Amino acid sequence: MNDLPIDGFPATNENSAMVLLVDDQAMIGEAVRRGLALEENIDFHFCADPHQAVAQAIRIKPTVILQDLIMPGLDGLSLVREYRANPATQDIPIIVLSTKEDPLVKSAAFAAGANDYLVKLPDNIELVARIRYHSRSYLTLLQRDEAYRALRVSQQQLLDTNLVLQRLMNSDGLTGLSNRRHFDEYLELEWRRAMRDQTQVSLLMIDVDYFKAYNDSFGHLEGDEALRKVAEAIRGCCSRPSDLPARYGGEEFALVLPNTSPGGARLVAEKLRQTVAAMKIPHCTPGEGAHLTVSIGLATQTPAIGSHCRNLISAADKGLYQAKDNGRNQVGIA
Ligand code: GH3
Ligand code: MG
Ligand code: MG
Repeated sequence: MNDLPIDGFPATNENSAMVLLVDDQAMIGEAVRRGLALEENIDFHFCADPHQAVAQAIRIKPTVILQDLIMPGLDGLSLVREYRANPATQDIPIIVLSTKEDPLVKSAAFAAGANDYLVKLPDNIELVARIRYHSRSYLTLLQRDEAYRALRVSQQQLLDTNLVLQRLMNSDGLTGLSNRRHFDEYLELEWRRAMRDQTQVSLLMIDVDYFKAYNDSFGHLEGDEALRKVAEAIRGCCSRPSDLPARYGGEEFALVLPNTSPGGARLVAEKLRQTVAAMKIPHCTPGEGAHLTVSIGLATQTPAIGSHCRNLISAADKGLYQAKDNGRNQVGIA
């Protein structure tokens, strides 16, 4: 713990102490100063004006405050309460210096927030021992707080990093949509939820038309760019947070639409088909002046108890084959 620096704190060695004596009598100040003068690692500050005490404590950051109780104009106990109420001084150990050994005064001092009580003028050995003891425990407390703060920061960094990793692990490198692994997990999850709630799950399987020919004509890099554009169009058609667009593989995409009726899914599919066609990405198949299009297979099911989401995927696949068979650039419904 010794080596841990404490933010903005001059006394970082846990054996050193910074004492602030608040007392209206200069004589007491002199006596304590002399008593501490030969002590190693103890810095001494004296404040004779109680109205300046809190401000001075904030400025010099003492590790112990020696507080006189009876001062003109301001009662020492009120000052103790002020230190306690101020976030900059609330944890600084306070040794109250009283003129007498009085149980009532003593208990009032502790109730106000004092940590220790000495009768003036205390024996120097005892004063030094208590100053060292309170300083050390205060510095240890600060070091512990600092260590906790650093721990919280690194925990947050770890959480952030994990989030980034999770996102990377779930996403497809080319398009940024969910990858196949995440699609499988998500559909399975939504399928089981729909089975419990007996709600409908819709699935779109989306396949780019004549994409082999597109690659052959324009090259794979252009092909990749076209896939990114189609992915953007799919992302743009998702309106609910629960809709999940994914790259299923190659030039095939999937869109999971939980809690969506056949009518609702059909609207989404048709909107997507039209959006891709409207992008007017030049293509040379099936003929001159053609544009890139997609075929979409659509299926909606309410999961039977014990059924598997494979059923839904193969139904959407059937719809996709129909769309291809019927001439592409259309939505096929299983
Ligand atoms: P259809 O209209 O019947 O779907 O014909 P198609 O040519 O699109 O279908 P096919 O399955 O024969 O070809 C798919 C092509 O998609 C083949 C492959 O080169 C291409 N492809 C798959 N993944 C990628 C990719 O990541 N980048 C690029 N540029 N092309 C890809
Ligand atoms: Mg294709
Ligand atoms: Mg294909």
